[in-house]
Amino acid sequence: MKVISDPNPVSLVDRSLAAVWHPCTQMKQHESFPLIAIAKGKGAWLYDEQGNALLDCISSWWTNLFGHSNPRINKAITEQLEKIEHVMLAGFTHAPVVELSEKLTALTNGNLGHVFYASDGASAVEIALKMSHHFWQLNGKAQKKKFICLENGYHGETLGALAVTDVAIFREAYGSLLQDVYTVDSPDARKAKPGESAEDVARQAADKLQRLLEKEHQHIAAIIVEPLVQCAGQMAMYSPEYLRQVRALCDRYEVHLIADEIAVGCGRSGKFFACEHAGIWPDFLTLSKGISGGYLPLSLCMTTEKIYRAFYSDQTRHGFLHSHSYTGNPLACAAALACLEIFESENVLEKNKMLSQDLANAFSWAKSDSRIAHWRQQGMILAFDIKNECIKNPGIFAREMFSNGLENGALIRPIGNTVYVMPPYILTTEEAMQMGSSIKNALDKTLI
Ligand SMILES: *Cc1c(COP(=O)(O)O)cnc(C)c1O
Repeated sequence: MKVISDPNPVSLVDRSLAAVWHPCTQMKQHESFPLIAIAKGKGAWLYDEQGNALLDCISSWWTNLFGHSNPRINKAITEQLEKIEHVMLAGFTHAPVVELSEKLTALTNGNLGHVFYASDGASAVEIALKMSHHFWQLNGKAQKKKFICLENGYHGETLGALAVTDVAIFREAYGSLLQDVYTVDSPDARKAKPGESAEDVARQAADKLQRLLEKEHQHIAAIIVEPLVQCAGQMAMYSPEYLRQVRALCDRYEVHLIADEIAVGCGRSGKFFACEHAGIWPDFLTLSKGISGGYLPLSLCMTTEKIYRAFYSDQTRHGFLHSHSYTGNPLACAAALACLEIFESENVLEKNKMLSQDLANAFSWAKSDSRIAHWRQQGMILAFDIKNECIKNPGIFAREMFSNGLENGALIRPIGNTVYVMPPYILTTEEAMQMGSSIKNALDKTLI
């Protein structure tokens, strides 16, 4: 058969723009900003259809821990594929979900001994909110049903999760669909006035929370926080002192603490769980993003024996009757187990201490750059803000920086004026340095 090649082949990008509605995107902006078709990935690198290499500085939306096409994770998934790809988790169980639950529990020293699964991060947040709400009903305190969240916090975009999210642009159109919540001050260390420390800001924020709890605790089920870094909220970092204070206040006023570690968990903060920096455990802890190494949708909500026991009853309706079709998917759990094995066998948390120093070195130029404010780092997250007066085209800075990053071989996605990197943990020192210089070049082009 003779193959006639199309003289005007339609590119994959054009077909995507015609048929795929992309997430978190005003599609019209793709008239002027590029959509990139990725053909493959290896390690910290992505390759587009033309073969251009891009350094994945943001771990593909904070999910990828050990590089693209990681041999150990690939192997774990293909081996699991030969056994069982999926089975419902109601009435059934399987080795990957059991082993993963046991390992995660062990990582909390048994403090959070029960693991409930879902697929996306937002669903894990919904689970924590629903469990807390239901717990208080089961304990004869049905009036405890409101949630507290933090200014500038982000917990996902389904309706329950969006209600506890304080990012105006995501909420704007949906306000009337969202339940009322209390929003309290963020302990964002950037708020420190001259002479004040991050701990001072943390204590001031906790004092305000205390005043709210004192007045309203009878109506409050839980407070939800992103421990140490409000990632979607422009990588706002804060002192672990805040978490210690919140834990104490939650105990005092009988309010649950939900630690949303979807972005900061899995070693991102420097410890496996960010709460460990404060030496506290929450009542609910959510994980997603990195847990499957960035391979498959997997999320989970861990909780305590006390919460679990409250639902344990002869009555069906006292159970936690929540499910998703792909709850505890064996392939995703196998990927997650492979990740936990890599953490152990390659001493990842220890090695990351060196790697985060490499990152700091790669961006040392930014510390003394007069166009930059609030250089900050927490483990494997490094961020800084660009001063308004240095930006050529405010409003489109993030997109221009994204484009200029691409031209310099780096995938970055600034949030507002904040430039950050959050790379996979397999980055080499050379790749870290390359990241630093690519981003400097992109910045020089974007700024005045
Ligand atoms: C990304 C994120 C979520 C939502 O996860 P999805 O998988 O996108 O639904 C929730 N909380 C935090 C802290 C996140 O960073």
